[in-house]
Amino acid sequence: MPDSVINLYSDTQTRPSAGMRQAMAEAEVGDEQRGQDPTVTALCEEVAELLGKEAAVFLPSGSMCNQIAIRLHIRPLGDEMYLHRLAHPITAEAGGAAAISGAMVMPLEGEGGMFDAATLRARMRDARDSHEPRSRLVAIEQTTNLGGGRVWPRARIEAVLEVAREFGLRTHLDGARLLNATVASGASAAAYAAGFETAWIDFSKGLGAPVGGCLAGSAELIAEAWRYKQMLGGSMRQAGIIAAAARYGLQHNVERLAEDHANAKFLAAGLAEIDGVEIDPATVETNIVIFDVADAAALHDKLLAAGVDSSLLEGRIRMVTHLDVDRAGVETALAAVKGALS
Ligand SMILES: *Cc1c(COP(=O)(O)O)cnc(C)c1O
Repeated sequence: MPDSVINLYSDTQTRPSAGMRQAMAEAEVGDEQRGQDPTVTALCEEVAELLGKEAAVFLPSGSMCNQIAIRLHIRPLGDEMYLHRLAHPITAEAGGAAAISGAMVMPLEGEGGMFDAATLRARMRDARDSHEPRSRLVAIEQTTNLGGGRVWPRARIEAVLEVAREFGLRTHLDGARLLNATVASGASAAAYAAGFETAWIDFSKGLGAPVGGCLAGSAELIAEAWRYKQMLGGSMRQAGIIAAAARYGLQHNVERLAEDHANAKFLAAGLAEIDGVEIDPATVETNIVIFDVADAAALHDKLLAAGVDSSLLEGRIRMVTHLDVDRAGVETALAAVKGALS
């Protein structure tokens, strides 16, 4: 592989910038597990406010935010949870919803990683029938990852929440890329998180931090989340070092997500011009571009040899733009795809 890799594998590939490292070096720290790290405390207050919730807890990863939220909502008594077939807890959390929470998982279908209210409603169980599991939790991803970075429109979310209210479901928002949605749509993070009992954002994706996510909810739920955080080994000590990176990302790297979106749209438009590539550029709303070719595995390897890293998912190619890939990098990637397919 050539040295100069254009890394479109994921927005997790960002490296902490000089300014972020400076903020980390200067962070005030304390014992996070005892609630005594001032930088972590400040971060949690900022995220709770951003998401319009009472409280938040800092966790080592977004996956742990999902797993703890699922544990908060699901009782290991056959409770059933509803989420899209491509959702992260189904595809990429090692079966934790079953292993840690004892959840029954009902995958739902829908274009772009989004199901709709009617699809959810059709799966609701009869609470009076003791043969059936109990309907308990619905979760959505904003934006959808394997669905191609799509932004759930607020009206579609409202309709899903309406079904949740009717059937007494708990509600969870996987906001790994929630701030991509807010920058793309102009709606606030709190507006998207409204009506969800738990919601979280990731710092190690487009915000450019090395580690972490914050899970937000009511004071009561977050107090309970601390118990599961301890149980899963997620309590930390002088975590202000990494919380400082997260705060820096929130301060400096949110508005600029618009550049990643513009680069992704440029990439999608360029790909659509290449013979042998199948993509509808109109579906690219944020920083994720997923496309089809006849032999995705072969293209993936050729791109890697040409210095362009992408990911191969279910026989498709995914490219994710982020702050370490500029327009020139995207142009190089396009030339590499063209070269590999000609
Ligand atoms: C990345 C991602 C996660 C997990 O976050 P990590 O910080 O990598 O553990 C969860 N959900 C979605 C939609 C993601 O894209």
